[in-house]
Amino acid sequence: MEKEEVLETQTSFFDLELHPDLEDGLEAMGFQTPTPIQAAAIPHILSKKDLLGIAQTGTGKTAAFLLPTMDRILDTPDNGKVKALVVVPTRELAMQIDQATEGFGYYTGVSSLAIYGGGTGKEFSREKKALEQGADIVIVTPGRMLSHLNLGYVDLSELEFLILDEADRMLDMGFHQDIMRISSHCKKGRQTLLFSATMPEKMRRLAHDLLNDPVTVQLALSKPAANVKQSAYVVFEHQKDEVLVNILRKKNVESGIIFTSRKKTVNQVVRALRKAGLKCGKISSDLKQEEREDVMLGFRQKKIPLLVATDVVSRGIDIDSIEIVINYDVPPNEEDYVHRIGRTARASRKGEAFTLIVPDDMQRFGRIEKLIEKTVDKLDLPETVGDGPKYDPSNVKRRGGFKNRRSNKQSCGKKKPRGKYGKKR
Ligand code: ADP
Ligand code: MG
Repeated sequence: MEKEEVLETQTSFFDLELHPDLEDGLEAMGFQTPTPIQAAAIPHILSKKDLLGIAQTGTGKTAAFLLPTMDRILDTPDNGKVKALVVVPTRELAMQIDQATEGFGYYTGVSSLAIYGGGTGKEFSREKKALEQGADIVIVTPGRMLSHLNLGYVDLSELEFLILDEADRMLDMGFHQDIMRISSHCKKGRQTLLFSATMPEKMRRLAHDLLNDPVTVQLALSKPAANVKQSAYVVFEHQKDEVLVNILRKKNVESGIIFTSRKKTVNQVVRALRKAGLKCGKISSDLKQEEREDVMLGFRQKKIPLLVATDVVSRGIDIDSIEIVINYDVPPNEEDYVHRIGRTARASRKGEAFTLIVPDDMQRFGRIEKLIEKTVDKLDLPETVGDGPKYDPSNVKRRGGFKNRRSNKQSCGKKKPRGKYGKKR
């Protein structure tokens, strides 16, 4: 596989020789210089290669696939067929990409449509009609697209592009099969583009299954922006809410996100915040679509100052001017730490990130510090909260949190674990 490590770029958008109408759209949107992933990916896509693009959140992946796709669509006759299918994990992202398409395409007449499920039956008929008439670019969530495909009226015989954005997130959400099913409906010989923030093993498999002699364009995971001030509190589980409320009261934030890894913790945190008189909204994958949309809108417009969220929103959704990110727990994947705190201090603003670390998460946080090559300041707990545990990232995960008790597994390290899974038959 051809592979390219992207470093820096001096290219201007003019060097990419895009259609003049697209250049006008770029100008109207205030884009002057392509980001590194754009400069590297766009020429390959224009030259019809399949592509695997890996770069973290905020690096400009959307335009990296939209611009060359739209450029190529402008070269083909408008025959009322779908030319590009963009598959994304969430409704929010579908809408965001649809808006970007409208922005870039303002002077082009390239049509787009977002299809994302959750809506009413009326909505479904509207989508059906639009699919039958064939918007140039259709942006979909996997489940909803399959519902339409299964009914048989979608014609993808002229499809030139199948694009998967946030492919890693889709795999995390269990969409592998859905993606393969969608791809089986698409024209053979179309160009396939896969974009992702991370490259876990299952992504490699998906890339292998979907891409044909692809080019890989990969940006190294950059460390969190230097203008994000990172710190942490080492706490016991029962101290978390009080510390959280304390931070938020002290900072009096206009716009902040509190991340948790588990859906059920979201509700617990929301309750604690509301009890403390702090206004907040929540967003997790089991929320109704309209509710999610309302909350995101309120948050964007600063009517809702605080958002409690699972990692679903930490990638992909582009919200400017978030002042503070609080990790209510240490994210399960080290890279997600970078993604979560990448939500703040965009566009060279200042931001702050706090992480609450319980004893079971110390080791994982130690790995995060290694990844970002930085020791994050551990702050003293507020006086009212009492003493917390001592930070010791070399500490192996323990049950119960008693400092001196060792679990059996650790003290007899030579032995292989036995029982259900260790036994040979
Ligand atoms: P990603 O998908 O990699 O997370 P996005 O495509 O959402 O990143 O882009 C992040 C932000 O950067 C968006 O607000 C987008 O409008 C902006 N952006 C992207 N490319 C450029 C560019 N070349 N010039 C200026 N702003 C850009
Ligand atoms: Mg994106």
